[in-house]
Amino acid sequence: MRKREVSALLIGRFQPFHNGHLEVVKSIAKECDRLIVGIGSAQLSHTFENPFTAGERHLMISRAFHDEGLDNFFLVPIMDINRYSIWVAHVASLVPPFDSVYTNNPLTRRLFLEAGYDVRSAPVFNREVYSGTEVRRRIVQGEPWEELVPRGVAETIHEVKGDERLQDIMRDHSPEATI
Ligand code: ATP
Ligand code: MG
Repeated sequence: MRKREVSALLIGRFQPFHNGHLEVVKSIAKECDRLIVGIGSAQLSHTFENPFTAGERHLMISRAFHDEGLDNFFLVPIMDINRYSIWVAHVASLVPPFDSVYTNNPLTRRLFLEAGYDVRSAPVFNREVYSGTEVRRRIVQGEPWEELVPRGVAETIHEVKGDERLQDIMRDHSPEATI
């Protein structure tokens, strides 16, 4: 019989996946056999807060994990359903079975706790700069951002011209933009 594996779930939007996320993943990986990453708001892309598609995020994260030698993981895109009361059941229906959930997001924490799951906090790594908001801000302002993300993430963003996309989105949404 296959040995039972201890599984942990980490959920985020990963817009984009950055070094803080990778540090969280490496610390969780020490405590479990199998890591499940839920790619949240999977239906969103091409906005300032959510510039990358679920597929692009999938590629970024798999490359970052591959470069770290992490191999026992599942990446599962999760679309929003806009009904928090049944969101946990929605997530559980999409991902492989898991023993605990790691999150620093207060709402995610509350919803999983209310549903009776073992919820754990992830250690926080240099949050001032390791945040999706800061990576997107730097991309838009033309400041160096590559140092905030794993190499495979930067490669993916360059490949899909994600930096140009974000700068375009900001231009198109600026008050001076015309239709
Ligand atoms: P955004 O600024 O776009 O919200 P984010 O950096 O918060 O991006 P998310 O995808 O929203 O990234 O977060 C996924 C999970 O990772 C959340 O639980 C979040 O609190 C956690 N997280 C994000 N950055 C760090 C960090 N530097 N250290 C530890 N946990 C982090
Ligand atoms: Mg966040």
